[in-house]
Amino acid sequence: MSNNLGLTVKPVTPTSPEEEARVAAWIDTQEYREKNFARQALVVNPVHCCQPLGAELAAHGFQGTLPFVHGSQGCASYYRSTLNRHFREPAPAVSDAMTEDGAVFGGQANLHEALENAYALYKPKMMAIFTSCMPEVIGDDLGAFLKNARAKGHIPKDYPLPYANTPSFSGSHITGYDAMVLAILQVLTEGKKVEGRCTGKLNLLPGFDTNTGDYREYKRILDAFGIPHTVLADISETFDSPNDGTYRQYPGGTPLDEAADSINGKVTITVGPYATAKTFAWVKESYAGRHAALPLPMGIAKTDAFLMKLSELFEKPVPAALRAERGRAVDAMTDAQQYLHGKRFAVYGDPDLLLGYVSFLLEMGATPHHVLCSKGSKKLEKELQALLDGSPYGRGAGIYMNRDLWHLRSLLMTDPVDAILGDTHGKFAARDAKIPLFRFGFPIFDRVNKHRLPLIGYQGVIHMLTEICNRFLDLRDDTCEDRFFEMMR
Ligand code: SF4
Repeated sequence: MSNNLGLTVKPVTPTSPEEEARVAAWIDTQEYREKNFARQALVVNPVHCCQPLGAELAAHGFQGTLPFVHGSQGCASYYRSTLNRHFREPAPAVSDAMTEDGAVFGGQANLHEALENAYALYKPKMMAIFTSCMPEVIGDDLGAFLKNARAKGHIPKDYPLPYANTPSFSGSHITGYDAMVLAILQVLTEGKKVEGRCTGKLNLLPGFDTNTGDYREYKRILDAFGIPHTVLADISETFDSPNDGTYRQYPGGTPLDEAADSINGKVTITVGPYATAKTFAWVKESYAGRHAALPLPMGIAKTDAFLMKLSELFEKPVPAALRAERGRAVDAMTDAQQYLHGKRFAVYGDPDLLLGYVSFLLEMGATPHHVLCSKGSKKLEKELQALLDGSPYGRGAGIYMNRDLWHLRSLLMTDPVDAILGDTHGKFAARDAKIPLFRFGFPIFDRVNKHRLPLIGYQGVIHMLTEICNRFLDLRDDTCEDRFFEMMR
């Protein structure tokens, strides 16, 4: 083996081609699968990101808000680049760039200097602060640091500075998202509750949803109902702003005064109950009006439940336009059913999305044969099992909580399926198993514009099944013998 300077590199441990081939074949076996599933102290290609990334997404969802990382610059680059690659849009955020001295003496000096600079340079309406691992390990007291920052005049006394502790050695991006949304709403709504006031609006908590098409779909549905609404942590414009030649640092986001007044709302609904667990628990105690936690409206049944709930809470009939849309979605499912019926899938992703994938596939008569979550819980497992048990197509499916994509690879090689549903990270397992990966969820780095097409609602049903069915039909056209190459499929 020689490098680009023409020098020969001697491997530390030479491996013969025969040995490489033996191991390559062995990792596809049942024996290896058992060893792989006995693995405890190592995670390979997990299906989650770290907490601060979720916190950054939440911060981007509020008007004029600058996400502020208290911690390492490299960590901040990771969150930004992951969001940036998924949306193909800028993800402007700052970091107070803690280094070795910060790790020894604490990060207060970094935080104060960075607050002053960011406030002067980027003129945000609000800075939403969250932590990387380092300040959490050394025990930085963010609350005290921010109090001191105001006292010393680094930042105006009444300037909104919500902060969330987002240690990445526990939880995941959805935990960080939840913590940041909670902190922002707590700061913005403080002292804003007015006895007897009702905005008449619906507050919608979408959860960790990186699909801008979903946000537009929620708004379209609510407009069709004639329900006034505030979408909390609304990233639809932030990460899908028009390209008109003008750079805007803070496009879109939930207006801060609307978010503040959301505490006087008529109804607050979360459609990402796993990604807003703490926020919603606090909302139930603090917000006026009625509250409801619903699953992500993916598939027909869950979309029906969402619309029926809106209808009940606002005492309005489901609009004729949405009823017609449902009929079209059912028609699209009927047309596509023969191509999906009986197909077996592996699915992985965040809890809220997983429940949606499983519902959607079962409705199509397909089997979600391997269901995997790398940060799962008993509650999620029970919910998934109940969905699978409720359909003949759920029989024989396996649920794998707290497993990663290297586990998934073993499942695919020993108990094959027809395709995978998940984010870009699954492409290696899909390639090894020689099956298609349908890219939904987060992050998607290797396809364009996926985040613009909705997964929720009846439009989401049509979009997902069209993409899946047509790919199977493409595969048939690409691989069939000439005599079976037909105009009709
Ligand atoms: S896991 Fe911790 S160290 Fe790694 S990028 Fe996330 S915050 Fe930084």
